Amino acid sequence: MSVEKLARPEIVAMKPYSSARKEAPGKGILLNANEAPRSLLDSEGGLNRYPDPQPERLVRRLARLYGVMEDNVLVTRGSDEGIDLLTRVFCRAGQDAILQCPPAFGMYRIAAQAQGARVVNVARDATDFSLDAQAVLDTLAGDDAIKLVYMTSPSNPTGDALEDGLLERLLGLAESKALVIVDEAYAEFTDRPSAAALIDRYEHLVVLRTLSKAWAAAGLRCGTVIAQPSVMSLLRRVIAPYPLPSPVVSLARAMLEEEALDKQRDMLREVRRNKAELLRLLADRPFVQAIYPGEANFVLIRVDDADGLLTHCALNNVILRGFPAEPVLRDCIRISVGSEDDLGQLAKALEAWETEQ
Ligand SMILES: *Cc1c(COP(=O)(O)O)cnc(C)c1O
Repeated sequence: MSVEKLARPEIVAMKPYSSARKEAPGKGILLNANEAPRSLLDSEGGLNRYPDPQPERLVRRLARLYGVMEDNVLVTRGSDEGIDLLTRVFCRAGQDAILQCPPAFGMYRIAAQAQGARVVNVARDATDFSLDAQAVLDTLAGDDAIKLVYMTSPSNPTGDALEDGLLERLLGLAESKALVIVDEAYAEFTDRPSAAALIDRYEHLVVLRTLSKAWAAAGLRCGTVIAQPSVMSLLRRVIAPYPLPSPVVSLARAMLEEEALDKQRDMLREVRRNKAELLRLLADRPFVQAIYPGEANFVLIRVDDADGLLTHCALNNVILRGFPAEPVLRDCIRISVGSEDDLGQLAKALEAWETEQ
């Protein structure tokens, strides 16, 4: 089956926009894009030119980093843009749906609702947040409108990774029916193999990676969609003609140089160390009812009085994440691992809170 059968027919029929840069990427005297002949910023030589829509060297580097071929890579403005593109290509307003397992990352729902797509929720267990794999499979089997199935591994905010075997069962069931999207924003914090290893086998598998978390570059806005070329060709029809500003491309390439891998390894080690320290800080606190350590660079906790603790910490200059709008997370707080100093401040705030109780 071709994945085109799952896409919105008007996207399949659409003739892609062809930018000047795409039509004439080569060198020469460039009088084809109404650009200025030179940059006004001495420090940024090429700023007067439109950037390469998919910068070749960055694409090559990301492909190598994620262990896939170059034609499996689409670079985007963060994973958020990847989610948005998938929704716009595969979900018809008022007809199609996405499936997610809340509590889940908020952008799946936002992108779906902005597109007019229905959101089908297969809720996680309200107490331990475990994923009901059978319910996911049954729901997908029973609802033909579902076009995108979101799996997050490790997940946010619950931190758990996809159980072994579930992805392949889902892919089997979703064939000819829906795309399975594995959001691996936190994959580098685990030792688990990436779903990208399966990309050649499944046309309806999409993996999302990002430089925002484990590459310490949330400000860069650089994500990668990994999929087969047939999916890419559809996404390219709706992506902005020049999604990546040239300074971002230069910074991303600098960040991913070989020496940077050592820096990243050090940082990941530091995160692991500090996470152990964070878990120690939280252990045996009478006001902490449950700790969900997860596999990512944050910890979710359930406490007696989430609002009170959030406000108390904020007054002590420590900002944590609460979820007042999500009923099953009303008592929960997500804490990013942070630096040693950050944890020191957090420890003080927690001690003061404990004394006040
Ligand atoms: C942080 C996060 C992202 C990253 O989004 P970017 O747009 O790449 O910054 C994606 N998915 C999940 C689940 C996240 O928590």
